[in-house]
Amino acid sequence: MSGGLVTAAYIVAAVLFIFSLAGLSKHETSKMGNTFGVLGMAIALIATIFGPYSSNVGWIIMAMIIGGAIGIYLARKVEMTEMPELVAILHSFVGLAAVLVGFNSYIVGPHMEGVPAHELQVVLNIHNVEVFLGIFIGAVTFTGSVVAFGKLRGIISSKPMMLPHRHKLNLAAVLVSFVLMVLFVNSDSTGFQVFALLIMTLIALAFGWHLVASIGGADMPVVVSMLNSYSGWAAAAAGFMLSNDLLIVTGALVGSSGAILSYIMCKAMNRSFISVIAGGFGTDGSSTGEDEEVGEHRETTAEEVAELLKNSSSVIITPGYGMAVAQAQYPVADITAKLRERGIKVRFGIHPVAGRLPGHMNVLLAEAKVPYDIVLEMDEINEDFPDTDTVLVIGANDTVNPAAMEDPRSPIAGMPVLEVWKAQNVIVFKRSMNTGYAGVQNPLFFKENTQMLFGDAKESVDKILRAL
Ligand code: NDP
Repeated sequence: MSGGLVTAAYIVAAVLFIFSLAGLSKHETSKMGNTFGVLGMAIALIATIFGPYSSNVGWIIMAMIIGGAIGIYLARKVEMTEMPELVAILHSFVGLAAVLVGFNSYIVGPHMEGVPAHELQVVLNIHNVEVFLGIFIGAVTFTGSVVAFGKLRGIISSKPMMLPHRHKLNLAAVLVSFVLMVLFVNSDSTGFQVFALLIMTLIALAFGWHLVASIGGADMPVVVSMLNSYSGWAAAAAGFMLSNDLLIVTGALVGSSGAILSYIMCKAMNRSFISVIAGGFGTDGSSTGEDEEVGEHRETTAEEVAELLKNSSSVIITPGYGMAVAQAQYPVADITAKLRERGIKVRFGIHPVAGRLPGHMNVLLAEAKVPYDIVLEMDEINEDFPDTDTVLVIGANDTVNPAAMEDPRSPIAGMPVLEVWKAQNVIVFKRSMNTGYAGVQNPLFFKENTQMLFGDAKESVDKILRAL
């Protein structure tokens, strides 16, 4: 394949990636968006592998078959609830790849053919800065994503790690790395350059680990989208080192869309963007609202809930992570249809960070064929709770926790929540009095108008369905 054809294929792939992002921004067009992305990536891979700059194509294809087989196996096996973990670990691979490309690019050196003699030093300096930054961003993304994976999987505590002087440590890591970069670029000694690269890599690995470990559970949605953004910038950095335009464009698309998503998540959670990306900067770490219970709770049965629903004229369902775990979306869709047949007004209230990945609840409800027009965002429905007879909180916890509004020292303080407690009756579906992801107790469970329906959400909803 000639260089010109490869460039044309790259332009087509880049346009397809942009269509893909546009398609993925809406439910109705998301499948098409996915197809555009797959098509773009297929064109990009074929053009790169069979282009003039690739050699040892046999090895590349063998590596792709092995990697592709592992990818297909994992994608088929993964549960919807494990998707964020999978995304986090995939981000770590991008980071690691950028580190390896960086070291390789340092060893191979820049392309110098055709560069005039008086510009050689400039080209070399630019290349060295690319190598240094690429390895730094890649190493931060690698360990940060590994910690995010551990936190999402429950291997690492979701509570923030609070090292003394943590912000000074972060600042020192950035400053020392910057000084090392200046020395690295200006040095003529290969020995010193390798030493500077290795020390910076160790610092960046520790920095990435610390940055994400310092962020508490409730801010994890922002961390996941932020690492998504970092992985994009790491790929763009690798694109600069490999002089591959498409990798630069794709990395920049992922980096900027991840940054926009992080910003949207921060706004939804009323968090400062800068504070979160700087490892919880500006939070003192002291908090109240741990997992001790704060009163008496009342329990109810599926039959009683069915009776209550029959006598309601308006119902709002607020799903959360527990609905995903229980896979309760199908009976929830059935209950919705049944109540609507009886003339009861049923709507869904979706918190922007409900579940474990952006849009998690929307995906599940769409899968169960709940009509889009009754699925409303938090801002669209929050004012309607006082006029609602019954709210069914299905496996949600942090996203309906009034402590976010009432307790300024709570780890989730300031986060807007679904104000379900303002309804006449609130039924909470969960298995125990355990806390949600942020690890804080929920005063909602002890309010006078709240009743707990204990058990697996799917089983409880099935029982109500039978009783209706
Ligand atoms: P939470 O994680 O706060 O709570 C989920 C609740 O579901 C738990 O209290 C649990 O209680 C219950 N549950 C679990 N399994 C079942 C089951 N089989 N049947 C019934 N109930 C079950 O969920 P929310 O959706 O309200 O909040 C999401 C949290 O996750 C927020 O803190 C958010 O910041 C965080 N997060 C969100 C991400 C995103 O992008 N959306 C990414 C990462 C984190 P019990 O054990 O008693 O059953």
